[in-house]
Amino acid sequence: MIKKELIKNIASELEIDICRITDGGGLKKYRKILEQRKKTGLWPQAFTEEDIDKLCNPSLHFEGLKSIIVIAINYHNNSKQINKCLSNYVTQKDYHIYLKEVMEIMVKKIKAKIKKDFNYKIFVDNAPFLEKALAERAGAGFIAKNSLLINPDFGSYIFLGEIFTDLEIEKDKALDLDCGECTICLENCAGNALTAPYQLEADKCIAYLTQKKGIIPLAERKKMGGHIWGCDICQIICPYNKNTSKSSKKELQYFERGIEYFLKIDRNNPPEELKNTAIFWRGSRILIRNALITAANLQKEEYFDLIKTKLNDNSSLIRYYAVWSLSEIDYQKSLSILKKHLLKEKNKEVKQVIKNIL
Ligand code: SF4
Ligand code: SF4
Repeated sequence: MIKKELIKNIASELEIDICRITDGGGLKKYRKILEQRKKTGLWPQAFTEEDIDKLCNPSLHFEGLKSIIVIAINYHNNSKQINKCLSNYVTQKDYHIYLKEVMEIMVKKIKAKIKKDFNYKIFVDNAPFLEKALAERAGAGFIAKNSLLINPDFGSYIFLGEIFTDLEIEKDKALDLDCGECTICLENCAGNALTAPYQLEADKCIAYLTQKKGIIPLAERKKMGGHIWGCDICQIICPYNKNTSKSSKKELQYFERGIEYFLKIDRNNPPEELKNTAIFWRGSRILIRNALITAANLQKEEYFDLIKTKLNDNSSLIRYYAVWSLSEIDYQKSLSILKKHLLKEKNKEVKQVIKNIL
């Protein structure tokens, strides 16, 4: 049996903020919750995976699983601004890549220290098991009423990663902590997505809406307010995040960009720096679409001419939102532009949205 302190010392050498160990057993408590949700139709829809066995049995993801090393790294940028364009988790470097690199180094160091080879698999949000539930069991934090993992020292601004291994390591215990009587996040959820404690209705959540493909219905567009990617409101107002310290890692500094930056993206040649972030996985089309929505919601007249150029984009999705955005920002001014555009527009949906406006 490997002493857990050996693993934790290596984690702190690598400036990993939290390192805890748990076993590979099934997540019984969460299996019951998911079974109940399946019956009531309250399945958290952000999950593409609906196989409860895969979600609740970590051992199905790694043969011979004996221990799980859970790590967490603080990414807090100390921003208290509620209506930022981008969520705090949008950092200079994609956290998936950053954490994987750190954990690979960690494994090498463990092997060198114990002078023994072992099998392992690294995960960062890339397999359908309940990683927050594993982190909770390991004592890295507790699952809060806003459905996020909260650590008493670092709050909820933490990236999680796991090393599944066939090494037998001494285990940690879960923390004895919870939200208590607090319900601040439920009362302030911008999308009314937190319909009960611990119950997030993902399709109402702004963070989910900003990642949704295709046409977003009008009511949902309005709900997005000034959010181009993600939403942090239920974290910013949480008392556990009040006094947490700023991340010192240069790769995890905030990628602070505004509406104009996204409206100016050249889809044929997107900026390299944007490709390094975790928000590029949906591609630049969705980011431009969201920027058009936020420009409309915030009545950004200064971008009217820039948005007008989007009527020539070869993506009908972008043209659709450019049409809508122009009419929302300045209805009168948009009329002649849209009438003229209607004569050359080929796409049925874009034509229809112009007709509805005229
Ligand atoms: S991210 Fe925003 S919309 Fe989603 S639960 Fe939190 S406050 Fe509500
Ligand atoms: S705001 Fe209150 S209820 Fe919500 S997660 Fe934070 S402590 Fe829990």
